[in-house]
Amino acid sequence: MTCPQDYTVDSSQPRETETVCRMEPTAAQRAARDRIAAGLAQAGFALPGTLIVRSHACGKPACRCHADPPRLHGPYAEWTRKNGGKTVTRRLTPAELAEYQPLFDNAKKLRALLSELQDLTLDIIEAGSSQAP
Ligand SMILES: [Zn+2]
Repeated sequence: MTCPQDYTVDSSQPRETETVCRMEPTAAQRAARDRIAAGLAQAGFALPGTLIVRSHACGKPACRCHADPPRLHGPYAEWTRKNGGKTVTRRLTPAELAEYQPLFDNAKKLRALLSELQDLTLDIIEAGSSQAP
């Protein structure tokens, strides 16, 4: 495994000291990695972007959504994602929402697992660098 580095190394110059990788996970950290990897291995299909279900007020001042108390339009399910650098928002029908919900749930699980793996790895390298002689 290569060591993460915050600095650049001029590979044309011989290095005076060999960089030692201090990636030394404990048994518990290895077990945590195995558990996360097992979760990742079970990944299902996953959609990009975010799903937000919300209600709106519209632009018509006399509309019921501006009444007191307001009665907003919706709730609507809106799927927002990046597509070629542009943010695209699409409103999903109730049928689409029911169909796609598991795919958003899968994506959320994957993001959580990846984030957990990154935090774990950070803990390991930080523990390693604090033990430097
Ligand atoms: Zn309205």
